[in-house]
Amino acid sequence: MIWIDTHCHLYSEEFKDDRHEALKRALVQDIQRIYLPAIDSESHQAMLDLEAEFPQHCFAMMGLHPCSVGDDPTQELAIVKEYWDQRDFVAVGEIGIDLYWRKDNLEQQKHAFRTQIQWAIERNKPFIIHCREAFDEVFSVLEEFQGSPLKGIFHCFSGTAEQAKRAIQFGLLLGIGGVVTYKKAGLAEVVASIPLSHIVLETDAPYLPPTPHRGKRNEPSFLLHIAEKLSETTGAPLSRIASMTTENALSLFHGEPSK
Ligand SMILES: [Zn+2]
Repeated sequence: MIWIDTHCHLYSEEFKDDRHEALKRALVQDIQRIYLPAIDSESHQAMLDLEAEFPQHCFAMMGLHPCSVGDDPTQELAIVKEYWDQRDFVAVGEIGIDLYWRKDNLEQQKHAFRTQIQWAIERNKPFIIHCREAFDEVFSVLEEFQGSPLKGIFHCFSGTAEQAKRAIQFGLLLGIGGVVTYKKAGLAEVVASIPLSHIVLETDAPYLPPTPHRGKRNEPSFLLHIAEKLSETTGAPLSRIASMTTENALSLFHGEPSK
């Protein structure tokens, strides 16, 4: 079984003492590919360095995170755009709207989100959505692009069955992470109602560790706890969870089915 962690900040400070070991622990579990979402210019270089070191296993995205939009994202967006003009990346991300940390710059967040979706469409690339307490706002921006071929991942999806349906209607996959293992979240029931063809797995490490690692730093090797929970709630064998989610991820990021 081959696994893919579609969303992991393995380049972040939290891994500075054991980054190689954390990657090795993932590889031992046959988690062979780790996709790295960008945040902002403070960490772009660390992300690119990790990708350059492990080009078979680590794949960089490029984008501006909604929590880094600030009062005026002009400069950060220009940096992202420059990277895109220089080279190719697997996806635009992570982008979106976060009204948990900050609400007063919603207009700037929407502007950055919209601008980067446009870049993804122009380049025929998928985009990775970060949405926190902002379902309506995210969907309303997506609606502006109706008629354009959208593809991407609704990262760390933790909404209702209705919201899952809407995301799928926009052409998006649902990124399922550690939250599915949290008893109180009720996400497992929602996920069980969604066909596996719309699901990819992610850890979002170092954040959101799955049970039984809650309270610790998350890492890519914990992906299997998420897969096991998914197998338990859907009744699908682990081998099918692996083959489906791996194929979904490969075809999204590279336009090719898995072998
Ligand atoms: Zn993230």
